[in-house]
Amino acid sequence: SKIIIAIDGYSSTGKSTLAKQLAKKLGFIYVDTGAMYRAVTLYAIRNGYISDENFDVENFVLELDKIKISFLFNPQLGFAEVYLNGENVEKHIRTMQVSGFVSPIAAVPEVRYLLVKQQQEMGKNKGLVMDGRDIGTVVFPNAELKLFMTASDQVRAQRRYDELIARGEQVTFDEVLHNVRERDYIDSHRENSPLMKADDAIEIDNSNLSIDEQFEKIKKMIEE
Ligand code: C5P
Repeated sequence: SKIIIAIDGYSSTGKSTLAKQLAKKLGFIYVDTGAMYRAVTLYAIRNGYISDENFDVENFVLELDKIKISFLFNPQLGFAEVYLNGENVEKHIRTMQVSGFVSPIAAVPEVRYLLVKQQQEMGKNKGLVMDGRDIGTVVFPNAELKLFMTASDQVRAQRRYDELIARGEQVTFDEVLHNVRERDYIDSHRENSPLMKADDAIEIDNSNLSIDEQFEKIKKMIEE
């Protein structure tokens, strides 16, 4: 049946890997909401609104109507890629620079308001897997299935580190660990829709679960 699956959790807990797998096997659409916050962050960096020295939040929020985020399915990859004002930005949004600024940007209420509205619009297509931080709590409080993913800090940082190295980024494990912890802290302490487990979400600690084991577990839940 066509349902909405909401997947939330801390950074690098394997949400998107699981979400992609579920979408593929169930024939659902997958939406990576982190990619939307990352694309908005890329815009803010490129246009000088945020840097190590400053965050001009007042002027940035005035620019929000100039930001158009869209997704386009890439049949080669088997999932949708994110576009910022018509440009495919997949390769630019997963850098350490964007990871360093995304949580402060995502804490801005106007940014959340804009993106949550777009995400809810996408929910009109049932048969959707969406991952993020506030999907089961704010975006789709009535989602038919809610998962909340956790994994140890070390496992999460190692995953993100391996991805960045594979992409040729110069980064140390400690920098990645620091970034993962810092984002979790900001994401769970912001005033506006902080990261938290929805009361009716099922918690999955995947530190020691393979993707196939996770999928089998969830398939059983959907069948019930
Ligand atoms: O999922 P990903 O790690 O790519 O998300 C990047 C950042 O975007 C998160 O650390 C968080 O600050 C923000 N985010 C959010 N709400 C969502 C998805 C992502 O605040 N639904």
